Amino acid sequence: MPISDSATPPAWKQPGTYILILEMEVDHSVQIGRLGTFDLRAGWYAYVGSAFGSGGLRGRLNHHLTPPVRPHWHIDYLRAAATVREVWTVASPTPYEHRWASGLGSLLGAHLPIPRFGASDCRCAAHLVHFTEHPLLAAFQALSPTVHITDWRP
Ligand SMILES: [Zn+2]
Repeated sequence: MPISDSATPPAWKQPGTYILILEMEVDHSVQIGRLGTFDLRAGWYAYVGSAFGSGGLRGRLNHHLTPPVRPHWHIDYLRAAATVREVWTVASPTPYEHRWASGLGSLLGAHLPIPRFGASDCRCAAHLVHFTEHPLLAAFQALSPTVHITDWRP
């Protein structure tokens, strides 16, 4: 079931950039589309994406918050083994996706477990970062103090 519009922030009607914070409670071996199968460690995963289509952030995030039926993006495969705990967003036509991917990778404890994950169409090393400890929005926000990032929890 998609989550109802009233359960999510009104700003999600707009386009923007987002980070999903997912928790994986135990180690999992996960097949990620054509990238292959990876032995993934328990802990926290941060995935960066952007939504500039007509459905705005809401359309895309509803997809990410609904159990995947037919996996399409790399993140759909990961979601079989991990749970979305938080969503960080900026509703803005400015594309932050790729600089955010590199910003996440610069945080303390960041590790890139799957090269090219979510980055088939760009030059980023990956759009997925693993952390042993729960990553904090305050630490990430400090990298771009002029952009106000909002935290939402399902
Ligand atoms: Zn990128």
